[in-house]
Amino acid sequence: MNQVIELPQPDDLQAERVRRLEGRLDRERRARIEAERLLEEKSLALYDANLALAALAAGLEQRVKDRTQELTAARQLALTQAETDALTGIANRGAFTRRLNETLANAEATTEGVALLLIDLDDFKSVNDNLGHAAGDAMLIAVAQRLSEVVRPGDTVARLGGDEFAVVAHGVGFDQHGQQMAQRLHDAVCQPLIFERRSIGCQCSIGIAHADPVGIHADLLLGNADLALYAAKHAGRGRVCSFEAGLRAEVEKKARLEGEVRHAVLADQIEPWYQPIRDCRSGRFTSVEMLARWHLPDGEVRSPGEFLGAVEALGLLDTMMENMLRRAMSEALPLVNSGALGYLSINVSPTQFNYGWAQNALPRLQAQTGFPAHALVVELTETALLDDIAIVRGMLGVLTDSGIRIALDDFGMGYSNFSLLRQLRFNFLKLDRSLSNDIETDAHSRAVTECVLALASRLGVDVIAEGVETQRQSDLLLAAGCSAQQGFFHARPQRDLRAALSAGVVPGR
Ligand code: C2E
Ligand code: CA
Ligand code: CA
Repeated sequence: MNQVIELPQPDDLQAERVRRLEGRLDRERRARIEAERLLEEKSLALYDANLALAALAAGLEQRVKDRTQELTAARQLALTQAETDALTGIANRGAFTRRLNETLANAEATTEGVALLLIDLDDFKSVNDNLGHAAGDAMLIAVAQRLSEVVRPGDTVARLGGDEFAVVAHGVGFDQHGQQMAQRLHDAVCQPLIFERRSIGCQCSIGIAHADPVGIHADLLLGNADLALYAAKHAGRGRVCSFEAGLRAEVEKKARLEGEVRHAVLADQIEPWYQPIRDCRSGRFTSVEMLARWHLPDGEVRSPGEFLGAVEALGLLDTMMENMLRRAMSEALPLVNSGALGYLSINVSPTQFNYGWAQNALPRLQAQTGFPAHALVVELTETALLDDIAIVRGMLGVLTDSGIRIALDDFGMGYSNFSLLRQLRFNFLKLDRSLSNDIETDAHSRAVTECVLALASRLGVDVIAEGVETQRQSDLLLAAGCSAQQGFFHARPQRDLRAALSAGVVPGR
């Protein structure tokens, strides 16, 4: 049987071809779509990655920027801290040296003058020792502030250490202007400081040197200013002194003396000597005033006028007084106990009194030696007593409450003695030598002396006439009612306390 093979018709073939083509096209399209999708996916991921990278880069950049700023600020702070005095906030010694060199270099270029001022506080050690470090710090801060307020923009104010400050001033020649500026700085610093509701005196000395002609080296300028400061300190402190040729030799001489005086104080060569006070009614020496004497190893004996200023300038007055007093109290104690000595009178300097030395040291020394307060008299001059009477009264009260008695020294020499008598209570007045002496020759002086004696008697204050040199002076004073007398006529100061008290006048100094 013949099988009939049906051949596809041309239409079918065509349709089949179309179908296959369509299938291929469909696959290709889908593959393309898939490829596109993949591509899109990849490029999206790439985009994201790019974004992330960019963000990372930006973040990094910011962090680098921040870090740089941080480092710059830290470096600036470190630099500022390294150049700033931590207590006062002004330039320190390092910054001072840099700025002095810069100012001098500038001045050389512009030929303008430069002044260097060194400012040193007087008796700052006493403030620290007697009023405490908080008071000392407050004083240093106030001084830094006061100096900064007075200088002109561009000038440098620095603390060189301790209580020493410096000002580098540009455009200041060796003329009146420089002097005026120094005086302005001085006046600004020397204002009382109120600390814990009490007023503390603030004093300074200033040395000034000029870089004139310009071209002077910083070290030399500093050396010159130092010499001027030294001279100011020794001219009695509280002074302004300019450097000038000739100062060096003078200062070297003083420096030598200071070296010797320092050694003298530390080696205990400053001794208590005693000048007796006589009761002219009984003729007996009843009490003594302690006076400082420098006893050199070769036997020479020097008076306070020759060394007291240097001791004070060296800040050794407290040490000197305490060494002397320990000896004097030990020597006097048996005589007080036996009734042979009424009291030991001691001189307290104005600065020592104002910084509270007496209130601090005397009880300590009394405790060490067993010396009774009732046998101790503190002699003060009117310059020791500040204007603020309430404060002075309080300071005196601390002493008098403990039983110590107070004498107003050199009465008749100052200007305000009478108002002091009105406002304060003293146990003794020490009639100045000028009044005791003049009573003999001058009727006016005699009248004044007699009135003072009458007034003192009304006030219940004992008077001791000082510096009595002749029999007649002594007689006139006694006749006017002043029996307690002291002076070369009666006895000179001497080393031995027993000898000073014995009636026979022993030659002394
Ligand atoms: P001052 O307290 O007025 O002492 C009296 C001074 O007059 C003493 O001088 C004494 O030696 C002297 N003098 C006594 N009688 C006569 C006299 O008849 N004629 C003359 N021309 N002078 C007489 P000195 O010892 O040289 O003391 C001078 C000053 O030094 C004292 O004056 C006192 O202010 C101070 N001073 C002395 N010793 C000390 C001390 O231990 N501490 C303190 N802070 N100052 C002292
Ligand atoms: Ca005296
Ligand atoms: Ca006196």
